[in-house]
Amino acid sequence: MADTAPIQPDFATIPRKTADSARNLIGMTRESLAAALSEFGIPDKQVKMRVGQLWQWLYQRGVTRFDDMTNLAKGLREDLSRSFEITRPEIVTRQISQDGTRKYLLRIAGGHEVEAVYIPEEDRGTLCVSSQVGCTLTCSFCHTGTQKLVRNLTPAEIVGQILVCRDDLGEWPKAGERPPERRLLSNIVLMGMGEPLYNTDSVRDAMKIAMDNEGLSLSRRRITLSTSGVVPEIKRAGEEIGTLLAISLHATTDEVRDKLVPINKKWPIRELLDACRAYPRLSNAERITFEYVMLKGVNDSDADAKRLVKLIAGIPAKINLIPFNPWPGAPYERSDWDRIEAFAEIVNRAGYASPVRTPRGQDIMAACGQLKSATERARKSRAEVAAEAGLG
Ligand code: SAH
Ligand code: SF4
Repeated sequence: MADTAPIQPDFATIPRKTADSARNLIGMTRESLAAALSEFGIPDKQVKMRVGQLWQWLYQRGVTRFDDMTNLAKGLREDLSRSFEITRPEIVTRQISQDGTRKYLLRIAGGHEVEAVYIPEEDRGTLCVSSQVGCTLTCSFCHTGTQKLVRNLTPAEIVGQILVCRDDLGEWPKAGERPPERRLLSNIVLMGMGEPLYNTDSVRDAMKIAMDNEGLSLSRRRITLSTSGVVPEIKRAGEEIGTLLAISLHATTDEVRDKLVPINKKWPIRELLDACRAYPRLSNAERITFEYVMLKGVNDSDADAKRLVKLIAGIPAKINLIPFNPWPGAPYERSDWDRIEAFAEIVNRAGYASPVRTPRGQDIMAACGQLKSATERARKSRAEVAAEAGLG
C-alpha cells in the first residue's frame, strides 16, 4: 500500500513555475553560466569565481532563493534575481512504497510529465532518472515504449530530478554543517523514461553537473547510463560523459532481439558488442552491466544462458537479470523463479556475477519498465503491442 508521508517542511514553498531555460541557472554548464554572467555584466576577472559560488549554492546547499546566497552582496543578489531564476520540476504526486521506494511524478514545461524513482538500499540510495518524456523506441516489453508523446528533457529537467529528490529527502547540509559521509542519494541510474543516447547532449551536460566537485559531487563510478544500443552514441558517451554503462541486451540472437528491442534491426548484436569492447576504461572495477529481462518462454532457456556468456566473452561484465515487470496489457509473462535461478546458475558458473534484480516499489508501479506518466493515456491497444512483438 502506498502512503503519503509528510513532505519536508520547506518543500512546498520552493518555486516551481515553468522554467525558462535561458534564465534558469539550474542545468547551465560552467561554460554557459559563465557566458550568461558575462552578458549580465559580471567583470571578466570575476566570472570564474562567481560560477563556483553560484554552483556551490545551487548544488551543494540546494538553495532556491537568491536571497539565501549570503556571500553575495545584497545588490548583486537583487540584480541576479531580476535576470535569472532557480527552478525545479513541479511535483505532481509522490508515492512511497512499503519498501521505502519513492516515485515522483513531475511536471515540466509544456505540461508534460515524467517520473523519477528513489530506491533506498542498505549501502546506497539510487535515483532512477528519466531522460525523455516517453520514448520513441518501441521495445515490446516496456511500458514507456507504448507512450506516444515524446520530447527530450533539458539538462535542467534532468538535474532537476536529482534536486527535487534531495529536497524531499531533506539532504542539503545546513549552514556550517559538513556534508554527511554517507549520502542518502548516492547513486544515479539513467534507467527511467526514455533513451538517454537519443538525448546525449543534455544527458552529458546534466551528468557533468552531477559529477563536478563544485556541483552535486557524485562519483563518476556511481552513475550508470543504460542504453538500448544506440551504437554510434556509445562511443561519444564514453568519451564525453564517462559514466558506467549498462546495455539492455535482453536476447542472444538477432531474431529474438529484433522483436524485443527493435533498434536491433539497425544495430545488431555483433555491432553492439563491438561498441562495448571499445568502451573506454573497461576493467574489473568498471564493468559493463548487461541487462536481461526474463520473459517466460521467450529468452529464458538454458541455450540462451549459454549463448549469452559466449557472446560477451572477454568483456569485463556483470549480468543483471530483471524478472519481467508486468503492466496492464503487456504481451509477456515473467519467467518462473526456478527458471530464473537455473539461468543465473549457468551465468554464474561462467564466472559472471548475475544478481537477480529484486523488483522494488511494486505496489506503486515503480519498477523497471513500468514508468509511464499518468496523463499520457493514449496507450496502444494490446493487439498493436502484440503485433509489434511478433506475437499477434
Ligand atoms: N531506454 C534505456 C533506459 C531505460 S529502461 C534502455 O532501454 O536501456 C531501463 C531498463 O528496464 C532497461 O534495461 C529496459 O529494457 C528494462 N525494462 C523495460 N521494461 C521492462 C519491464 N517491463 N520489466 C523489466 N525490465 C524492463
Ligand atoms: Fe525506450 Fe528503454 Fe523502454 Fe526500449 S526499454 S522503449 S529504449 S525506455
